Amino acid sequence: MIPSPSGLSRRDFLRTSAGFSLGGLLGLGLDLRAAQEETRRFRIAGVKEVPSVCPYCAVGCGQLVAVRDGRIINIEGNPESPISQGTLCPKGAATYQLAVNPLRLTKVWYRAPGATEWDKTKTLDWAMDRIARLVKETRDESFVETRSYEELGLPLPSVSAQQARKRVNHTLRIGSLGGATMDNEWNYVQCKLMRALGVVFIENQARI
Ligand code: SF4
Repeated sequence: MIPSPSGLSRRDFLRTSAGFSLGGLLGLGLDLRAAQEETRRFRIAGVKEVPSVCPYCAVGCGQLVAVRDGRIINIEGNPESPISQGTLCPKGAATYQLAVNPLRLTKVWYRAPGATEWDKTKTLDWAMDRIARLVKETRDESFVETRSYEELGLPLPSVSAQQARKRVNHTLRIGSLGGATMDNEWNYVQCKLMRALGVVFIENQARI
């Protein structure tokens, strides 16, 4: 094999690239320890790393939240977490964008029935009142305490139970669809509220 001008053969280069490790480079006479140490010092300069827990689901992966001058500058997996050992799923790995994201909506966008344009003049109080009123009205109109076995598509428990009805206490006219940024605690409370209302169509989009 013809050595390259640097003295590094093609095979050596490929072997090194495949396992790109400090040890491999050391084996080739390249000592990157100083550079690595410098990078580490630079990365953590003036930064406080706060151990935390991913807010999204019950797996509870560990996170390290890097804070500088009172602002979050990075969130990554905590290698010391016995749960996740430094790993995060795609959703947990994007937690930084939950805290720091100039694209987040900060105003209510309301589109009235039949309208083609968004109305951005409504306040959050107005929107919350409207949602609460519509949920209450819909639930009151549609709440059902019992259903027949036939309605539910279930076999009758016995021949003598022709008139039997099953207690359901539910509404089928409301659904709850979670968003990707709803955290663990929010989902817990949301689920409690929906179950108390009799909602059965619940999806919280907990993790990816
Ligand atoms: S959302 Fe992902 S990173 Fe967060 S706790 Fe669940 S599995 Fe872990």
